[in-house]
Amino acid sequence: MSYFTGLRCVHCGRTYNTNEVEYFCSACGYHDGILDVVYDYEAIKREVNPLALAQNADYSMWRYLPLLPVADASLLPHLQVGWTPLYDAPRLADELGVARCWVKDEGRNPTASFKDRASAMGVVKALEKKASKITCASTGNAASSLAGFAAAAQIPAAIFVPANAPAAKVAQLLVFGAQVFAVQGTYDQAWELCMQASAEFGWYNRNCAVNPYLIEGKKTVSLELGEQFMRLTPGSFPDWVVVSVGDGCTIGGVWKGLREMHILGFIPRLPRILGVQADGCRPFLTAWRDHSTLVPCEAHTLADSIAVGHPRNFSKGMSAVTESGGAFVSVSDEEILQSIPMLARKAGVFGEPAGVAGAAGVKRAVELGVIGGSESVAIIMTGNGLKDIQSAMRAVGRTIQVRPDIREVREAVAVELTA
Ligand SMILES: *Cc1c(COP(=O)(O)O)cnc(C)c1O
Repeated sequence: MSYFTGLRCVHCGRTYNTNEVEYFCSACGYHDGILDVVYDYEAIKREVNPLALAQNADYSMWRYLPLLPVADASLLPHLQVGWTPLYDAPRLADELGVARCWVKDEGRNPTASFKDRASAMGVVKALEKKASKITCASTGNAASSLAGFAAAAQIPAAIFVPANAPAAKVAQLLVFGAQVFAVQGTYDQAWELCMQASAEFGWYNRNCAVNPYLIEGKKTVSLELGEQFMRLTPGSFPDWVVVSVGDGCTIGGVWKGLREMHILGFIPRLPRILGVQADGCRPFLTAWRDHSTLVPCEAHTLADSIAVGHPRNFSKGMSAVTESGGAFVSVSDEEILQSIPMLARKAGVFGEPAGVAGAAGVKRAVELGVIGGSESVAIIMTGNGLKDIQSAMRAVGRTIQVRPDIREVREAVAVELTA
């Protein structure tokens, strides 16, 4: 069973029953993802502990059901989300200049990104609320993920993406049968349009910065980290958890999940959080560095999944770094591109630009002295590389063109041997 007791506004502190409000705090009127789902952790401790989990045969995000706001477990979608692999990556650790490095491969989720954890949660809530249609705006992955989960749950989906979203992500949308609005504008404009349409047509809103339940899905990555490290390195946990940042929902969810695993005794000591942005779009970094409020900016980066000039979950995203004593760093598009083959060659994991940005960020943080050479890091690799092969191809060499003749292969090999 679930133990969620209500919703609390992180801005003004007011609490609500779950059916009192839908998306926003009606008292303070703030619109940036400020409602937080509240649980009875004392009761949860009896069900979620190392011994009980060791006997739980459900290796998906739903193994943490008591920590999720699900009223009716019969509505869970059949797709397998979560319990993604956690790889020890010593050669990557050497390359990045840290003592140890693990990579959690979120590209292994059903639609190949981290967003599936949120979408899975979103369709459960949409079904609970008997929604006629579900909608979101997305740089690509939240969209393709929602399309997949809407198909699984048999709910129609209307999706708003910027017209320049990578082709593979758009293909996913159309294949899963979503109604796709390719907005001739930025992600921020697609967002506004989606919000208007949701209000006008009464569609259920899957936007993670609006719908308070979505972050609960995202936090499951950290619940897994807590349990996986308890098995792998009992009694210790990495010094840093690293994730790339667009709207701020992912990093916010990561932090919430870590705090919960700390409360439940899985994590001995809370890690610091490193939030990684692109040089051409770093509103979180700027506000954090200047101790200022959010100043939206234009987004200039090829890492489409974090090309968010106006982050919609600013407060939760910022809290993850400030409360954990962590840091924000930014990396250039060139560094992001270089990290695609680096992660693939040093750890065997192929990520999309925003997926590998975390690794690039660790390198930068080590150079800046933010992360020490004796520290350990867990990098959340948020999206699969096949999502955006155009970017990947920019970072790698060429094929060797040969006729179907062994002599040409010999020649090429000889050249390689003398090189
Ligand atoms: C969405 C996304 C992010 C960033 O998540 P936010 O919640 O927008 O901060 C990072 N990487 C990938 C691959 C994503 O799809």
